[in-house]
Amino acid sequence: MDVNSDENLLTHLDADLQKNLIERLKKGIDINQLLKDLLQKHDEELALEKEKLAEEVREKNNGRKPSRYIPAAIRRQLRKEHGTMCSIRTCQKQATTIHHTQRFALSQNHDPKFLAPLCREHHAIAHTIDGKYLEKRRW
Ligand SMILES: [Zn+2]
Ligand SMILES: [Zn+2]
Repeated sequence: MDVNSDENLLTHLDADLQKNLIERLKKGIDINQLLKDLLQKHDEELALEKEKLAEEVREKNNGRKPSRYIPAAIRRQLRKEHGTMCSIRTCQKQATTIHHTQRFALSQNHDPKFLAPLCREHHAIAHTIDGKYLEKRRW
């Protein structure tokens, strides 16, 4: 799906959803505000989910050395937050790697706060800054 070349955002909505929004619009409901509220709520839920996941991972590891493998629940969460794209805001490339923004060797955790899906270029840049450690895992 190439959102950038798509002039009409509505074409991404399925027919039911379009109908639903048009019905609300006809009732005089401010659908801009409605969508803003929903998105904000969604972001808040993601933030909470992130905290919860980090907590769960900490409890599960319980002082033991965790696996380098990023748990599926955390991958799913990252997907919800970042989609399939590089998490650098200005970047429009597909993410290829989940990067640990804190060195895994030191932090020993997969707290999603410190994970960022990156495209190949941004991942290379991230490791130019911290070149000693390179993870190979892709998602
Ligand atoms: Zn990395
Ligand atoms: Zn990028």
